[in-house]
Amino acid sequence: MAISVFSLFSIGVGPSSSHTVGPMRAARQFLLNCQEKQVFSSIYSIVVHLYGSLALTGKGHATDMAILLGLQGETPDGVHPADIAHKMRHIRDNKSLNLLGTHPIHFEEDAGLLFHNDTFLPFHSNGMRFTVFNSSHKELFTQVFYSVGGGFVVNHESTLKSSKTAPSTTLSSSPTAPQLPSVPYPFKCGDDILHHCEKHGITIQELMMANEKTWHTEKEIKQKLLNIWSVMQSCVKRGCEEEGILPGGLNVKRRAPRMSRDLMERERLKQSDPAEVLDWVSLWALAVNEENAAGGRVVTAPTNGASGIIPSVLHYYAKFAPEPTDEGIVTFLLVAGAIGFLYKEGASLSAAEMGCQGEVGVACSMAAGGLTAALGGTAEQVENAAEIGMEHNLGLTCDPIKGLVQIPCIERNTMGAIKAINASRLAFKGDGSQKVSLDEVIATMKQIGHDMNVIYKETSLGGLAVNVAEC
Ligand code: SF4
Repeated sequence: MAISVFSLFSIGVGPSSSHTVGPMRAARQFLLNCQEKQVFSSIYSIVVHLYGSLALTGKGHATDMAILLGLQGETPDGVHPADIAHKMRHIRDNKSLNLLGTHPIHFEEDAGLLFHNDTFLPFHSNGMRFTVFNSSHKELFTQVFYSVGGGFVVNHESTLKSSKTAPSTTLSSSPTAPQLPSVPYPFKCGDDILHHCEKHGITIQELMMANEKTWHTEKEIKQKLLNIWSVMQSCVKRGCEEEGILPGGLNVKRRAPRMSRDLMERERLKQSDPAEVLDWVSLWALAVNEENAAGGRVVTAPTNGASGIIPSVLHYYAKFAPEPTDEGIVTFLLVAGAIGFLYKEGASLSAAEMGCQGEVGVACSMAAGGLTAALGGTAEQVENAAEIGMEHNLGLTCDPIKGLVQIPCIERNTMGAIKAINASRLAFKGDGSQKVSLDEVIATMKQIGHDMNVIYKETSLGGLAVNVAEC
């Protein structure tokens, strides 16, 4: 396994990891590559082509914003959400881009950012081509990138001279996914993890901590994970306070603030409702996903569309577990990360490849396993919970209305969070035997993703996106 847990849980902006976070990283990386090729200072103009799912749902997913700000050198964790509108207005009003913040060029968006709705590049549905020209309109450099889910990007090496030349099949690794030269406990599947745990008498969280120590001290790892938790808490807090209508034209009203007030009032009055815990779990997920839909600061976990599930289940742990601790939070995130790696390695985190099972399904599975570990479950119970979390999300389609990460996405996170908690409880009540393994369910998800019609894979060409009138 070649990535750190901090690649899976990264701090960024909404609304989408594959359509916002990934393209922003790719745009910036392309210009850094131009610097390396020593063509940067000669750039006079730039053209960006978006293909497949990025073109079809890019407007609703703010891919245009992500590309333009990425070209200006912004990063998903560095750009302040409150500054985005102003920066975009400046680019559009002045018809100019300041490449990497140092090299201003004239830029007309209509001619410089092109959406190819009916063209899919061969490697992945989320393709982008960047090309720069000098003042004689001679091509200086061109590259194809793919945003492969969860904010990860890969660069499809292409010829430097002509954009018409067929790209080679070599993929360079994501500039944002640090490589692990070697870790004490390498794994590619759930069985590998269980084998390590049994052979070395360790838990999954101990395995993950040992691997992460390849880069950081234990103290640093814990601090970084607790910082991620703190960003998630801030996101929930903002989501519970911000009133209003979400952007994009669907007129979806934020629900978290009112729900938050109602729940706190019921708590104050000591009004009991046996199903109240469901409302709290839904509230935390709504708060995050409404913030995400508004382009706010969120933690990609493991995607933005599904970014409410893990924070919600963590809040459930913090509020309702008998003895919640920071150690439990760290355990939760390490184990959830291990499960996320399995999906990234064995299938995909991209809705453009897997449908929503690759987003909400994976986040549900990760949260189920993380919660089980935090509550003291064994490695087998964690594996069982993660399997249940995915099994009942198999076949979940991605068909967002108007290409916005709002309907069905926001509510779907409440369902994912509740399902994760139930999966964990079922795993604790099991007798240790199970018919379906986590590896089998991951392989099944991958197969379903490949068999799924493209209209249900983040293209907004089918399902709710075409059957529900936009209002
Ligand atoms: S339907 Fe699911 S996969 Fe598609 S954008 Fe919404 S959350 Fe993401």
